[in-house]
Amino acid sequence: MVRKKLATVWLGGCSGCHMSLLDIDERILELARLADIVKCPVVDGKELPEVDLTLVEGSVTSDEHLRELKHIRKQSRLLVALGDCAVMTNITGMRNYFALKDVFNTAYVDAPSNDRLGEVPNDPQLLKLHDKVFPLQEVVKVDFTIRGCPPDADTIFYVLNEFLNDRMPDLAAVNKLKYG
Ligand code: SF4
Repeated sequence: MVRKKLATVWLGGCSGCHMSLLDIDERILELARLADIVKCPVVDGKELPEVDLTLVEGSVTSDEHLRELKHIRKQSRLLVALGDCAVMTNITGMRNYFALKDVFNTAYVDAPSNDRLGEVPNDPQLLKLHDKVFPLQEVVKVDFTIRGCPPDADTIFYVLNEFLNDRMPDLAAVNKLKYG
């Protein structure tokens, strides 16, 4: 079987989905027999080459995320939304109930802080937050979703192992085995 290329990316999320990915523990060696991990927050790959599969954690919150997600889509044969923030915005999307200016003021102006300026940062190099947070599928085509906050390590391993062995994961069957 041809060795595959795997990437994982962290957009607007808390990193909990990647922590759950790390919880696959020594099973990472089984995946390493099938694929090279070419980009991931815990490895030092800066660029995203063409890959067979990218796991994306988190929602689209900013101009930078939008650019990155479109690039990921272009480079990835399969794009998998990892976790509820990627699938439906979840925790990251809680700010969608408020105006962005109120969110900024609550965080930087009104909150008790030892920052005496109490101003909203406006350096031009900072990313520009969108008014609303979007799930991945509102921006690009998503090939598969792994639900959960975070998804459990067994499910993440199962999905990766199936795709890397050229099989389509069947989460319904897995859930039936687990939960009856
Ligand atoms: Fe964090 Fe849950 Fe969102 Fe994953 S789905 S990034 S664990 S809040």
